[in-house]
Amino acid sequence: MPEISLQEQVNTLSGETTQLCYHCHKCTAGCPVAYAMERGPDRILRMVQLDQHAVLSSPDIWLCAGCETCGARCPNAIDIAHVMDALRQVARAEGIPPAVPHVALFHEIFLRIVRATGEMHEASLLGGYKLLSGDLFSDLGAGARLMIRGKVPIVPKLSRNRARVRRVFGADKDGK
Ligand code: SF4
Ligand code: SF4
Repeated sequence: MPEISLQEQVNTLSGETTQLCYHCHKCTAGCPVAYAMERGPDRILRMVQLDQHAVLSSPDIWLCAGCETCGARCPNAIDIAHVMDALRQVARAEGIPPAVPHVALFHEIFLRIVRATGEMHEASLLGGYKLLSGDLFSDLGAGARLMIRGKVPIVPKLSRNRARVRRVFGADKDGK
């Protein structure tokens, strides 16, 4: 059986048609994280089109915040956040470590909290990440200010739908 190309894998996982990209650069021009990226979303799309596996080692696929600004600007309606998700999935499946330190740990803690409570709980995410990463002191002031202003509740809420959320995780684990 012929080997599936990287672009085909990404298209299948993301539900997007990456060959539609004609590199107008609108996505990168509006991306709030582009300043920290090596290439930016339009060049990531180009690497996917060219089946360049080096894209799986790019820090950009892990820096993407999934804000969907790029998708809203794209004249070809490509949801680049989905493409970035697909690239992260392929990178994980191929055992390629994230190029951004501790980002996999951050994602792991995020998913564990959602799985346990059915919702996001920022204080647990912050605390868990700080403890497990050993990065105890960066952004401490910002975190404390958010808590004092009540923007980050201390006690987690349990979603009424958490059983359904767990089923989603179970289906994902079984590959269904
Ligand atoms: S906005 Fe759309 S078409 Fe333009 S470079 Fe980005 S992904 Fe490609
Ligand atoms: S979804 Fe990702 S790539 Fe697109 S604008 Fe937001 S941070 Fe940038």
